[in-house]
Amino acid sequence: MPTAVLAARGETTRSLPFFPYPQAFVTEEDDLVSIFRDVGRRGAFILQEDGRRFEDNLARFVGARHALGVANATDGLLIALKAAGVRAGDEVIFSSHTMVATAAAIHYCGAIPVPVECGDDHLIDPEAVAAAITPRTTAIMPTQLNGRTADMSALGRIADRHGLTMVEDAAQALGSRFRGQCAGTFGAAAAISFYPAKILGCLGDGGAVITNDSGVAARMSELRDHGRNANGDVVGWGLNSRLDNLQAAILDYRLHRFGAVVERRRALARAYRAVLNGVAEVVLPPGPNDDPDHFDVFQNYEIEAERRDHLRDYLRAQGIGTLLPWGGKAVHQFEALGLNRSLPATEKLFSRVLMLPMHPWLTMEDVECVGQTIRSFYGGNRG
Ligand SMILES: *Cc1c(COP(=O)(O)O)cnc(C)c1O
Repeated sequence: MPTAVLAARGETTRSLPFFPYPQAFVTEEDDLVSIFRDVGRRGAFILQEDGRRFEDNLARFVGARHALGVANATDGLLIALKAAGVRAGDEVIFSSHTMVATAAAIHYCGAIPVPVECGDDHLIDPEAVAAAITPRTTAIMPTQLNGRTADMSALGRIADRHGLTMVEDAAQALGSRFRGQCAGTFGAAAAISFYPAKILGCLGDGGAVITNDSGVAARMSELRDHGRNANGDVVGWGLNSRLDNLQAAILDYRLHRFGAVVERRRALARAYRAVLNGVAEVVLPPGPNDDPDHFDVFQNYEIEAERRDHLRDYLRAQGIGTLLPWGGKAVHQFEALGLNRSLPATEKLFSRVLMLPMHPWLTMEDVECVGQTIRSFYGGNRG
């Protein structure tokens, strides 16, 4: 089904939304409705067999000992931080190029979010992390952004040298690997998101937490379910942050087809590189085969572009939807949060950065069309 649709009026109006939400349902409608009917007829709504099966399959997929469904990744990050031992007053270092949710989880843990710069690949810069460490720092929370895993070997060395805990925001990075190891398995704990536009999405909110440590897993299991342990005893304060069993059943169905989704996204990334090769005004993300240390899953396709706002308007006028990450600001730039930092490299990046359409229903012709439209923008606007 081509997403570049010609309008019935006979004009060549294209409609290429940034993310076509209805496709996330209609392309699998019959199977999804059967799952709904099956789960509903069993009355299996909360913490049931489907959820446990999905957790087992997810843990096996990422190569971790434990995975637990939670209501969303934002809760998951809070639960992961608490279970990993981050306390009130601790400083936690994160990249300002992330969703506000990363910092909010640190904040609601009672800790102090310390934003730092990102590097050329838009992920947290290990040197900036090292420079931000103080006696109060207890944890590093890298965001595995756009489906790419940070240099976990450099970050791991820093964490070891200073005795810091690592908690990953792997919300965007299911299946992404650094030196063969999956995002979400490097630190004490991690969270991933199943928001509908995420690479493994459900039909609403959902998330998971991951760990290799059985003590951390037990605390996370309690925290997501009112502080209750396996016997139903309340052993501490907790939340209600469970993944709905219906969503878990849908996610388990999709996890079995996930390899094809990743391959599709990597093929689309290759196609973007081919069509935009040699356009001096744009900087593309690393290609899928550029660096043997990284296996990227291309949750997003985030470029840097000269005259970004004009390019965005030009693409919009041609019916091509794009997105500014986080609405166009890094976390420290939201003044209401009072983070009071100046991060010049990140601020410069945010005047240039643009996300192009990237989802499994995009066709190669769509990518060619987006690329040629970008080429024509720069070709026709030189000087
Ligand atoms: C989507 C996202 C989150 C939040 O995930 P939810 O499941 O919507 O709570 C956190 N961090 C990053 C980097 C994200 O992209």
